[in-house]
Amino acid sequence: RLEISNIVKDFGGRRVVDDVDLTVMPGQVTCLLGPSGCGKSTTLRIIAGVESQDSGTINVDGKLVCNGAMSLPPEQRNIGLMFQDFALFPHLTVAQNVSFGLAGRKVTDRVHELLGKVGMASHIDDYPHQLSGGEQQRVALARALAPRPRIMLMDEPFSGLDDRLRDDIRDETLAVLKSEGTAVLLVTHEPGEAMRMADEIALMRDGKIVQRGAPYNIYNAPVDIQAAAFFSDIN
Ligand code: ATP
Ligand code: MG
Repeated sequence: RLEISNIVKDFGGRRVVDDVDLTVMPGQVTCLLGPSGCGKSTTLRIIAGVESQDSGTINVDGKLVCNGAMSLPPEQRNIGLMFQDFALFPHLTVAQNVSFGLAGRKVTDRVHELLGKVGMASHIDDYPHQLSGGEQQRVALARALAPRPRIMLMDEPFSGLDDRLRDDIRDETLAVLKSEGTAVLLVTHEPGEAMRMADEIALMRDGKIVQRGAPYNIYNAPVDIQAAAFFSDIN
């Protein structure tokens, strides 16, 4: 369970993240949705621990990850990351990519389990350049899940895929994440993607969460005319 409260971040005197609260439950997908520049990626980077907040607290499964006084480094937060440009290591095989950084006797089992789940078991000894974009995306998901993160942060992870492939990969990704019981916070600027993937949408504008709720509740009852306009160009 991811709980963040009262996160604030200024860049050069401008408030980019303005008192943001979010909770994401295990097995649930929350979409942080909003227009370009509203502060989505900055919020995600703060949760991941690669950017510091000015104030606010973050907890993972009830354990304090950071507040004004302390901050765990990214690798101790139990948080997985998938970003748009999250490239595989080109010189490592699929299996080596997925097991990278892991140790122990169970690693091989875990690699086989995950590659099975993402439908890539037959590509275990291939190198990334031998795979299509969609196949690389599946391997990247397996790699992100290999250390069993409690939380998965995804920043526009499907924007590099062509339209035809994107719907399939979205559905497959959701199924795998649900089967792992991971709490997912997914950033997107596309209302259609949030409608398709989210259990809950948090609508962000100018650094603030302006509305949150189930996708169809937000779609049917947008908080104001700007929110209504934003949802009107769903594709
Ligand atoms: P997009 O949908 O285009 O990815 P976003 O919602 O992810 O947008 P952010 O990347 O969080 O937006 O950026 C929010 C604002 O903060 C932008 O105006 C951006 O220019 C600014 N910003 C982000 N990072 C920095 C930084 N390191 N230094 C200064 N300003 C920054
Ligand atoms: Mg962004």
